[in-house]
Amino acid sequence: MADRFRIQNNLETLRDFSAPGEEGTTRLSYTPAYLQAVDYLKKEMEAAGLRTWEDGVGNVYGELKGTDETAPVILSGSHLDTVRCSGYFDGQAGIVCALEAARMLKESGKPLRSSFQVLATIMEEGARFPNLTGSRYIAGENGEAQLDTLRDQDGVTLREAIRQCGFSGNLEMTCRKADSIKAFLELHLEQGIRLESTHTDLGIVETIYGCRWFTVAVNGATSHPSTPMNLRKDAGIAACTLISELAALVEEHYPNRATVTFGKFENHPNEINAVPGRTVFSVDFRSGKPEILNELEALLKEKLKAMESRFRVKTELTLYSDVPPTPCCAEFSKILEEQAAALHFSTLRMDSGAGHDAMIFAKHWPAAMIFVPSHNGLTHCPKEWTDYGNLAKGADVLCAAIRQIDKLD
Ligand SMILES: [Zn+2]
Repeated sequence: MADRFRIQNNLETLRDFSAPGEEGTTRLSYTPAYLQAVDYLKKEMEAAGLRTWEDGVGNVYGELKGTDETAPVILSGSHLDTVRCSGYFDGQAGIVCALEAARMLKESGKPLRSSFQVLATIMEEGARFPNLTGSRYIAGENGEAQLDTLRDQDGVTLREAIRQCGFSGNLEMTCRKADSIKAFLELHLEQGIRLESTHTDLGIVETIYGCRWFTVAVNGATSHPSTPMNLRKDAGIAACTLISELAALVEEHYPNRATVTFGKFENHPNEINAVPGRTVFSVDFRSGKPEILNELEALLKEKLKAMESRFRVKTELTLYSDVPPTPCCAEFSKILEEQAAALHFSTLRMDSGAGHDAMIFAKHWPAAMIFVPSHNGLTHCPKEWTDYGNLAKGADVLCAAIRQIDKLD
């Protein structure tokens, strides 16, 4: 069985590879703290008998060799970077549990047919370069062009950051051929409270939510606050009304099936003594079902139309980004579920509201995900927590599922 103390030791050591002076763990890609974490991780992998290397952009691998070198490999892991002032579970828990699975496989003395590779990805969080960039390079979705066009907030290009850290920048050895990979398994924190509130050990992810982002501009007329209410063209009130109505509808009709977020809101002229003449806000719809995203888009359009006549305004709707929901591999999800049941761990089928590396990989080779409970649903903050016992259960299921997948032709 998995050793929770090895998991704890790895996580607590990684926790401290963090930018100085920040609360919690801050480990942005290509920073000194990041490189220290890579060094430590490689040493731990090597101590477990794995061969290690970094690809051209800095994704780290540790390989347990299988008996058949021609067999496609089984991959498991998650991301090593964090957002600013994060906890020390999001991402790294998936790497450490995959490493624990590798240690268990090695210690069993019964080698796999396929090689098993523990993967630690870079640039998943989007805290320095756009999110999921490391896995996009592995999947071959990014190329040379992005090395020069992607820049951090100080203007440093990705190519410069890679070079400064001593990675090769070689994209040929970074991109994995789809038929060379049998499976990718990712363990991650739930980032919600369904598992904890139902006292369930592990979640089996069916679909990673797609998201559809819009920008809405409401054009009314700026006027003096003495303007009678019934004559105003108040863009701010129109926007707020739509936001509160839409949020209530999604909460009432789509519980656990969709979310809506209005994260950006700008009023013009934004003065205490002016009726706002123009308001611009963002809409972020998420769901595991494409048809629900379509329904929500239709609902938004309907509400905008109703708002135009009710508040005497004009509206403009712009689609900003559209990422379809990504289903996980049904066959491997079932294997994860069966292995958990065989170990007497309870599971719940669920969707993931957040994006993960598995979402990129699932388009190219079979990918499946295990969730572990997040205490109080908190992540991306120093209070992020999951019990080490939960992680040990996750590592046990990973290990058993890897053995099972290895037996499949
Ligand atoms: Zn994460």
